[in-house]
Amino acid sequence: MSARMSLTDALTRMPRVALVDAPTPIQPLKRIEEVMGPALNGVKLYVKRDDLMGLGGGGNKLRKLEYLMGDAAANGCDTIIATGGIQSNFTRVTAAACARQKVACELVLAPLVPETDDDYERNGNTILNDLFGARVHVLGRGETAADFARRRAEELTAQGRRPYLTPGGGSNSISALGYVRCALELDTQLNSNGLGDAIIVTANGSNGTHAGLLAGLKALGRSPHRLRAFTVLANAENSRNSTLAMANGSLELLGASDRLDIDDVRIADDQRGRGYGLVTDAMIEAVRLMASCEGLLLDPVYSGKAFAGVISDVRAGRYPAGASVVFLMTGGTPALFAYRSAFARKDDRS
Ligand SMILES: *Cc1c(COP(=O)(O)O)cnc(C)c1O
Repeated sequence: MSARMSLTDALTRMPRVALVDAPTPIQPLKRIEEVMGPALNGVKLYVKRDDLMGLGGGGNKLRKLEYLMGDAAANGCDTIIATGGIQSNFTRVTAAACARQKVACELVLAPLVPETDDDYERNGNTILNDLFGARVHVLGRGETAADFARRRAEELTAQGRRPYLTPGGGSNSISALGYVRCALELDTQLNSNGLGDAIIVTANGSNGTHAGLLAGLKALGRSPHRLRAFTVLANAENSRNSTLAMANGSLELLGASDRLDIDDVRIADDQRGRGYGLVTDAMIEAVRLMASCEGLLLDPVYSGKAFAGVISDVRAGRYPAGASVVFLMTGGTPALFAYRSAFARKDDRS
């Protein structure tokens, strides 16, 4: 049996709830190429549009949620508890998916970003959580979302409910299967578009997206080295270690005998700036470039920083001449509204 068939088979055996409109398209970034001109050295830029999904505003968290909700259903759970930062994209799509699946949803939101304002606290994702009908618990500084969620799960259990606790950022070896599935999808698309050797670039926050893609490439017998990530949360070393463990966990769940090692995991931390959720000039430039040239929206916390990394790597000549680079657009548009002050022009009100 081919690697592709056995991977497809193994994935089919894992419980899953369909939430994603797949395959998401791959599109060229012609106008950005035009603007970057000779600096590109023949590099061709593409995006895979994982921001283009219908449910709850979409984004990468929806792929991961397919397997978490599958696992919850397989365990007879009637309530999903999701934790995240105030502007978490994961909790937002969880609320939407729960609405559609008729499962109760409780969100535990913690202040993970040290510098915020009124837009951050009340705009963007927070409006949507409420519209989707989730019960929202907003914690004060110093409280840990995971601890609160565990206590809340005990309370619900005592009331005869069956809560399902999702991992931070929605990432573990189960949810990463969503990106193993995406690796299969991507592999087919790349091969049929003459992009079989393309370099794939993604943001890495809670690791699941990167880990799933790595596991998928490995199981398909493709080189994991073509995948590069920019961490926006942990430093490169910690991020590499946790991504590796998660990816190998997914391979184990799938019954695959292959394992990745640390050299297979390529993560740079030069775009993280002062920390998670804190703006950088390069992120603002990247978001503006993508919007003003292509009419597409990156987000300020993840894909904006990762695409800034692509721009910086192009300028530094870090891609081979003529290489094709496929950037994973992971969604998160609602967070732009929470970062109004970062994008406001100084002359806005003049
Ligand atoms: C969470 C998130 C990521 C990072 O994905 P992880 O699986 O947490 O590493 C990237 N982009 C957006 C928009 C996200 O919300």
